[in-house]
Amino acid sequence: MTTPRFGFTAWGFDLVRIAEPVTASRPNTAAPRARMIARNGGVALETDGRQVTARVHSGSLASLAHLEFAAMAPATATALRATLGNRHEPDDATHAALVAAGLRPAPVLEAADCSCRARSTACVHVLAALYALAALVDHEPVTALAIQSAGGSGAPADEAGRARPVPRWTPLAALHARDYYAPAGP
Ligand SMILES: [Zn+2]
Repeated sequence: MTTPRFGFTAWGFDLVRIAEPVTASRPNTAAPRARMIARNGGVALETDGRQVTARVHSGSLASLAHLEFAAMAPATATALRATLGNRHEPDDATHAALVAAGLRPAPVLEAADCSCRARSTACVHVLAALYALAALVDHEPVTALAIQSAGGSGAPADEAGRARPVPRWTPLAALHARDYYAPAGP
């Protein structure tokens, strides 16, 4: 058996499962192309807390996909901290321990959007972003925790944070404006 390129760790596999849900009645036909794009380095990821922005290049076209993950449940986060101790990177055993305790450490995709015309949350760019994220998590499992962190910049959950409504999308147009405005100068 060969080692799968995406999701060879338990943490990375959780991301692959979002792209390839077991509940799907048939495989997403865009998945093979999405894997190819991710494999060929066509995805540039930027993570900011629970928000992940992916610039996806496919041929001569570039799309901006945006993913947002739910905060980890407080009980899971507490158990995770206890299991990790003073280690920084969670490993497969950490994942297994949480699952064995009936907890769900897998990231939950709360929202996804893309600048392309597919008008689907499962377009090839969102899928490519998920595969690229799986590859990143395989190599840096702590990323799977960062994208589920409550509050800003990995701060622990607080009551005020949980009371807040779910953050709204950063409009894609705003991202474009910011990215192109800043380097251009006056
Ligand atoms: Zn797209």
